[in-house]
Amino acid sequence: MDKIVSLAKRRGFIFPGSDIYGGLANTWDYGPFGVELKNNLKSAWWKSCVHERSDIYGMDASILMHPKVWEASGHIENFFDLKSDCKSCKKRFKAAELSDHKKCPECGGELTEERPFNLMFKTHQGPIEDGSSQIYLRPETAQGMFVNFSNIMDSRHPKLPFGLAQIGKAFRNEITPGNFTFRTREFEQMEIEYFVRPQDADKVLQEWIDYRFNWYLNLGIKKESLRKRKHPKEELAHYAAACTDLEYKFPFGWNELEGIANRTDFDLRQHAQASGKDLRFFDDASKERFYPYIIEPSGGVDRSVLAFLADAYHEEKVKKDTRVVLKLHKDLSPVKVAVLPLLRNRPEIVELAKKIAAGLKKHLICVYDDTGAIGKLYRRQDEIGTMYCVTVDVQSLEDKQVTVRDRDTMLQERISIDRLEEYLKNKLA
Ligand code: ATP
Repeated sequence: MDKIVSLAKRRGFIFPGSDIYGGLANTWDYGPFGVELKNNLKSAWWKSCVHERSDIYGMDASILMHPKVWEASGHIENFFDLKSDCKSCKKRFKAAELSDHKKCPECGGELTEERPFNLMFKTHQGPIEDGSSQIYLRPETAQGMFVNFSNIMDSRHPKLPFGLAQIGKAFRNEITPGNFTFRTREFEQMEIEYFVRPQDADKVLQEWIDYRFNWYLNLGIKKESLRKRKHPKEELAHYAAACTDLEYKFPFGWNELEGIANRTDFDLRQHAQASGKDLRFFDDASKERFYPYIIEPSGGVDRSVLAFLADAYHEEKVKKDTRVVLKLHKDLSPVKVAVLPLLRNRPEIVELAKKIAAGLKKHLICVYDDTGAIGKLYRRQDEIGTMYCVTVDVQSLEDKQVTVRDRDTMLQERISIDRLEEYLKNKLA
């Protein structure tokens, strides 16, 4: 884990938040390659869950919502963890993580009784900070989709089964955040709310578990590092009838990457009751009105980025050296091609390399780098996970060819500059 955190900072993937002020605990900022990786991951999800299907509609709802949403959803009443405080050192602990419920794990002091601690962040809307202006930062993106159910019905007229998909920030005032970006108080979710006939819920839940499991595998996660874990009854959230987590074997152990739940008709019923709006589905064929059930695959963007980073991290012996390489899937790699001049003190070579890079940039994510000797440049690109390095040398000036190096095999091929774009596009397709 230390190696991943250090590489993430060294190479511009993820930095500690507010770093120059000593950091704000458990906040992280994505740097130049981190944001590309994260955007690629979100695009891959959107492609698989929205664009490649004809039964799912995309959405982007507000973070700030009417406070009644959280009353109806049950979050005000039920969305809490049990906490316990140390009477001597004042540290706060999540009760579920305490092995001895009487003594403080830090200083051995006496602990208070367990008390519920609501995880929602509160803030105020408008210039007056009184009770009537209090609102919440959403703790899940899901509710933004439920409250738009009738808007989607009226504007898109979907038939069952159909789904809504959304990627966006969520906030939880976690008692014990940690493990790098695994558990933070501000994070991004990618969620689908899939509406089905109640009698189909069990079957569709299973289909989504398999669909989402395979998505991770298709993007390169090792099979032995991914597993499904069905929740026992006592672990289910207040709205769920069933849930299976997809867990990844992080360096700190097996942990949840995504939860896939049968939320029943809980949310639509609650919102219908609280808003007074009819949120039932009208079935044209049978002329029946009923509440559909909801199957929800809910994943974390930041946790996925961390899992893909951990899974891609490789150390390899190359002659006497150790090569660190991020073997990210080609769709996720933050940089597809790096163009590197072999001799940076030869202006004709530098000029040709820059020209090639400028041409490629129109089609691929491409960087140009001439800030070191070639060995160092290769090492840097390997650590970023760059798929191909294109080297321009003296010979290139004459034969109009460049050397293309493959990240994983390190094999090199001479390719004509005319054919380079097509060659790379085929490789990355
Ligand atoms: P956990 O048990 O780890 O607290 P959860 O079961 O409360 O997670 P869900 O409510 O199912 O999580 O949220 C769906 C997804 O959102 C999780 O699978 C995870 O990927 C992501 N997620 C939830 N909480 C956090 C957090 N504090 N930091 C980062 N990602 C999170």
